[in-house]
Amino acid sequence: MKEKIYVLDASGIIGGFISSKNLNITTSAVISEIKDIKSKIAAESALMEGTIILEEPDFESTKKVQMAIENSGDILRLSEVDKQVVALAVTLRKKFYPVVVTDDYSIQNILKILNIPYKSVLTQGITEVYGWIKICRGCRKKYPPDYDYEECEICGSAVYMKPTKK
Ligand SMILES: [Zn+2]
Repeated sequence: MKEKIYVLDASGIIGGFISSKNLNITTSAVISEIKDIKSKIAAESALMEGTIILEEPDFESTKKVQMAIENSGDILRLSEVDKQVVALAVTLRKKFYPVVVTDDYSIQNILKILNIPYKSVLTQGITEVYGWIKICRGCRKKYPPDYDYEECEICGSAVYMKPTKK
Protein backbone atom coordinates (compact mmCIF):
# COMPACT_ATOMS: atom_id res chain seq x y z
CA MET A 1 0.00 0.00 0.00
CA LYS A 2 1.18 3.49 -0.85
CA GLU A 3 1.84 5.96 1.95
CA LYS A 4 -0.95 8.48 2.52
CA ILE A 5 0.09 12.12 2.23
CA TYR A 6 -1.80 15.39 2.26
CA VAL A 7 -1.49 17.98 -0.50
CA LEU A 8 -2.56 21.35 0.87
CA ASP A 9 -3.89 24.35 -0.98
CA ALA A 10 -4.11 27.78 0.65
CA SER A 11 -7.63 27.14 2.01
CA GLY A 12 -6.37 23.97 3.67
CA ILE A 13 -3.53 25.80 5.42
CA ILE A 14 -5.68 28.82 6.35
CA GLY A 15 -8.34 26.41 7.64
CA GLY A 16 -5.73 25.12 10.06
CA PHE A 17 -5.21 21.70 8.52
CA ILE A 18 -1.65 20.49 9.03
CA SER A 19 -1.53 16.78 9.78
CA SER A 20 0.86 15.61 12.48
CA LYS A 21 0.45 11.97 11.45
CA ASN A 22 0.99 12.20 7.70
CA LEU A 23 3.29 14.22 5.52
CA ASN A 24 1.90 17.57 4.30
CA ILE A 25 3.07 18.76 0.90
CA THR A 26 2.38 21.97 -0.96
CA THR A 27 3.96 24.25 -3.57
CA SER A 28 5.94 27.42 -2.88
CA ALA A 29 3.28 29.43 -4.77
CA VAL A 30 0.64 28.31 -2.26
CA ILE A 31 2.78 29.54 0.63
CA SER A 32 3.31 32.94 -1.01
CA GLU A 33 -0.43 33.17 -1.67
CA ILE A 34 -1.20 33.13 2.06
CA LYS A 35 -1.69 36.68 3.27
CA ASP A 36 -3.29 35.99 6.64
CA ILE A 37 -0.53 36.60 9.22
CA LYS A 38 -1.49 33.83 11.65
CA SER A 39 -1.66 31.23 8.87
CA LYS A 40 1.58 32.49 7.37
CA ILE A 41 3.42 32.07 10.68
CA ALA A 42 1.92 28.59 11.15
CA ALA A 43 2.94 27.58 7.62
CA GLU A 44 6.46 28.94 7.99
CA SER A 45 7.09 27.19 11.30
CA ALA A 46 5.72 23.93 9.84
CA LEU A 47 8.14 24.38 6.94
CA MET A 48 11.04 24.84 9.32
CA GLU A 49 10.04 21.79 11.36
CA GLY A 50 9.64 19.75 8.19
CA THR A 51 5.94 19.05 8.84
CA ILE A 52 5.20 20.70 5.51
CA ILE A 53 7.43 19.96 2.54
CA LEU A 54 7.59 21.97 -0.67
CA GLU A 55 7.40 20.16 -4.01
CA GLU A 56 6.60 21.29 -7.54
CA PRO A 57 4.51 19.37 -10.11
CA ASP A 58 6.24 17.82 -13.10
CA PHE A 59 5.54 18.89 -16.68
CA GLU A 60 3.61 15.77 -17.65
CA SER A 61 1.18 16.14 -14.72
CA THR A 62 0.70 19.86 -15.41
CA LYS A 63 -0.29 19.04 -18.98
CA LYS A 64 -2.66 16.31 -17.87
CA VAL A 65 -4.43 18.69 -15.46
CA GLN A 66 -4.65 21.42 -18.10
CA MET A 67 -6.37 18.99 -20.44
CA ALA A 68 -8.81 17.82 -17.77
CA ILE A 69 -9.69 21.46 -17.00
CA GLU A 70 -10.24 22.31 -20.65
CA ASN A 71 -12.54 19.32 -21.08
CA SER A 72 -14.55 20.19 -17.97
CA GLY A 73 -15.37 23.79 -18.87
CA ASP A 74 -13.92 24.98 -15.54
CA ILE A 75 -11.08 26.95 -17.16
CA LEU A 76 -11.87 30.41 -15.83
CA ARG A 77 -12.41 29.48 -12.23
CA LEU A 78 -9.02 27.91 -11.54
CA SER A 79 -5.96 30.07 -10.89
CA GLU A 80 -2.42 29.05 -11.86
CA VAL A 81 -1.76 28.21 -8.22
CA ASP A 82 -4.89 26.01 -8.09
CA LYS A 83 -3.74 24.13 -11.18
CA GLN A 84 -0.29 23.61 -9.64
CA VAL A 85 -1.81 22.07 -6.52
CA VAL A 86 -3.86 19.61 -8.60
CA ALA A 87 -0.85 18.84 -10.81
CA LEU A 88 1.28 18.25 -7.71
CA ALA A 89 -1.23 15.63 -6.53
CA VAL A 90 -1.05 13.96 -9.97
CA THR A 91 2.77 13.99 -9.77
CA LEU A 92 2.83 12.54 -6.26
CA ARG A 93 0.28 9.85 -7.13
CA LYS A 94 3.08 7.93 -8.83
CA LYS A 95 4.73 7.21 -5.45
CA PHE A 96 2.15 8.04 -2.79
CA TYR A 97 -1.57 8.05 -2.01
CA PRO A 98 -2.28 11.80 -2.06
CA VAL A 99 -5.38 13.35 -0.49
CA VAL A 100 -5.86 17.00 -1.42
CA VAL A 101 -7.01 19.29 1.38
CA THR A 102 -9.06 22.10 -0.14
CA ASP A 103 -12.31 23.99 0.34
CA ASP A 104 -12.35 25.19 -3.26
CA TYR A 105 -15.22 23.63 -5.23
CA SER A 106 -13.55 24.12 -8.62
CA ILE A 107 -10.45 22.27 -7.41
CA GLN A 108 -12.66 19.55 -5.94
CA ASN A 109 -14.45 19.15 -9.27
CA ILE A 110 -11.20 18.66 -11.18
CA LEU A 111 -9.95 16.22 -8.53
CA LYS A 112 -13.15 14.21 -8.97
CA ILE A 113 -12.56 14.03 -12.70
CA LEU A 114 -8.95 12.93 -12.15
CA ASN A 115 -10.09 10.42 -9.51
CA ILE A 116 -7.97 11.95 -6.75
CA PRO A 117 -9.46 11.93 -3.23
CA TYR A 118 -9.90 15.20 -1.37
CA LYS A 119 -10.79 16.41 2.06
CA SER A 120 -12.56 19.61 2.97
CA VAL A 121 -11.59 21.62 6.05
CA LEU A 122 -14.44 24.06 6.53
CA THR A 123 -17.25 22.65 4.43
CA GLN A 124 -18.57 19.16 3.90
CA GLY A 125 -17.25 18.95 0.35
CA ILE A 126 -19.39 18.30 -2.67
CA THR A 127 -20.93 15.11 -1.37
CA GLU A 128 -24.29 15.93 -2.95
CA VAL A 129 -22.77 15.57 -6.40
CA TYR A 130 -23.53 12.17 -7.78
CA GLY A 131 -22.98 12.43 -11.47
CA TRP A 132 -22.11 14.46 -14.50
CA ILE A 133 -23.93 15.73 -17.55
CA LYS A 134 -22.70 17.62 -20.55
CA ILE A 135 -24.31 20.92 -21.45
CA CYS A 136 -24.04 23.04 -24.59
CA ARG A 137 -22.74 26.55 -23.99
CA GLY A 138 -24.93 27.88 -26.75
CA CYS A 139 -28.42 26.35 -26.66
CA ARG A 140 -28.03 24.62 -23.22
CA LYS A 141 -29.02 21.25 -24.65
CA LYS A 142 -28.15 18.46 -22.19
CA TYR A 143 -26.16 15.40 -23.20
CA PRO A 144 -25.20 12.24 -21.32
CA PRO A 145 -21.66 12.34 -19.78
CA ASP A 146 -20.42 9.85 -22.38
CA TYR A 147 -21.46 12.09 -25.31
CA ASP A 148 -18.30 11.78 -27.40
CA TYR A 149 -18.24 15.09 -29.26
CA GLU A 150 -16.92 18.43 -28.09
CA GLU A 151 -19.49 20.33 -30.09
CA CYS A 152 -23.27 20.49 -29.83
CA GLU A 153 -25.10 18.57 -32.56
CA ILE A 154 -27.82 21.26 -32.66
CA CYS A 155 -25.93 24.57 -32.71
CA GLY A 156 -22.24 23.61 -32.90
CA SER A 157 -21.21 25.40 -29.68
CA ALA A 158 -18.76 23.83 -27.22
CA VAL A 159 -20.16 21.28 -24.77
CA TYR A 160 -18.89 21.17 -21.18
CA MET A 161 -19.17 18.81 -18.19
CA LYS A 162 -21.27 19.85 -15.23
CA PRO A 163 -21.87 18.03 -11.93
CA THR A 164 -25.49 17.12 -11.25
CA LYS A 165 -27.17 17.15 -7.88
CA LYS A 166 -29.56 14.63 -6.41
ZN1 LIG B 1 -26.22 23.76 -28.75
